[in-house]
Amino acid sequence: MAVHGKLLAIISAIAIAGCCSYLREHPVVISATGQKLCARHRIPLLTVHGYGVTDYAQGSERTLTLIHTFGPQFEREQCNPNYIPRNQSLKRSKDYPIPILVTYCPKCEDATWISEAEWRDSFRKQGMSEQEIQRILSQKPSG
Ligand SMILES: [Zn+2]
Repeated sequence: MAVHGKLLAIISAIAIAGCCSYLREHPVVISATGQKLCARHRIPLLTVHGYGVTDYAQGSERTLTLIHTFGPQFEREQCNPNYIPRNQSLKRSKDYPIPILVTYCPKCEDATWISEAEWRDSFRKQGMSEQEIQRILSQKPSG
């Protein structure tokens, strides 16, 4: 039963992500006035001063984690393509010390990130035990 539920969840995740794969490949449209718009929300992208991770300058993606392309988070990233990537932040911190320009769509950013409570909910619906859920959530990067 639980396995069946998990399989269904995976299949539906692929189906939903599939609908958004065009968005993912074409996240930006240009308006008649030459402005960059979010292809999903049709609002202008914001470019602001932000911060990148320490290895940002080298273009490394090693800070990306496995959970990046997992389940509901994957769907949301596919369907809201102009979120702020994990190697960029609007806030300066120990992990994000490098000043950079960050371009993003505020609606995508709001819609993309799944809270820990939402993760728990989603995992429970997939029939995972509390132990499994705890194990997965403890692998998430902190901050
Ligand atoms: Zn957007």
